[in-house]
Amino acid sequence: MVKQQELIYEGEAKQIYATDDPALAIIRYTDEATAYKGFKKGTIIGKGVVNNHVSSMAFAMLEENGIPTHFVRRLNERDALVRRAEIIPVNVVIRNVAAGSLLQRLGLTEGQVLRRPIIEYCYKSDSLSDPMINRDHIDALGLATPEEMDQIQALSRRINELLIPFFARYGVQLVDFRIEFGRCGGKIVLADEISPDSCRLWDSKTGEKMDKDRFRRDLDDVENGYQEILRRMTQPVADA
Ligand code: 5GP
Repeated sequence: MVKQQELIYEGEAKQIYATDDPALAIIRYTDEATAYKGFKKGTIIGKGVVNNHVSSMAFAMLEENGIPTHFVRRLNERDALVRRAEIIPVNVVIRNVAAGSLLQRLGLTEGQVLRRPIIEYCYKSDSLSDPMINRDHIDALGLATPEEMDQIQALSRRINELLIPFFARYGVQLVDFRIEFGRCGGKIVLADEISPDSCRLWDSKTGEKMDKDRFRRDLDDVENGYQEILRRMTQPVADA
């Protein structure tokens, strides 16, 4: 049993604690929600529990399919045990369907299926508001080497290929999502979370949003959107 020790990082919706094993940390998922660079703040009751379960299931599935990740195991309703990694300050966004910031930027219509998935990179920097960057910027700023970015790009495409059918099984369309990678034991590993906070998840039939966009866009039933994802993922799935 690992023992929780001091808080080492507090994010918008997560706390990270050191443990008595220097190689391991505990992620605690909270119910806090922020959007628009912190201008909108709120609480979504039960969100942390949903995000912990959804993320743990997604990471376990990815590990089983050969994706190296920081995930060790879910500890309880709100906590997960992870390997400590040196986070690479590049957010990776993978898009299958046009939504969010892509609409205005490229003049697309929400829901338009993209001819192929798009990968975007953003520089993780609060003071610069996470600007979009390309691989030249990443190399010039020394954020990651070209070899590391080759791995990150290939892993990101593979993660998307695995997550699309994973969510589709529960009647959920993976529209887009944001992930982070870290360095751990000389390897690139998937870090952070995969949850309705970091993914756009729509009902496959009705297109109803079941993710943080309900909060961002002041839609009703924000809590239910999150709970519905967990309900679908934890009830037995009938074989097709
Ligand atoms: P967009 O650039 O369209 O606003 O967002 C692209 C993807 O990144 C969406 O799946 C969205 O949920 C995710 N995303 C945007 N901002 C954040 C954030 O602050 N934290 C996390 N974890 N994901 C985000």
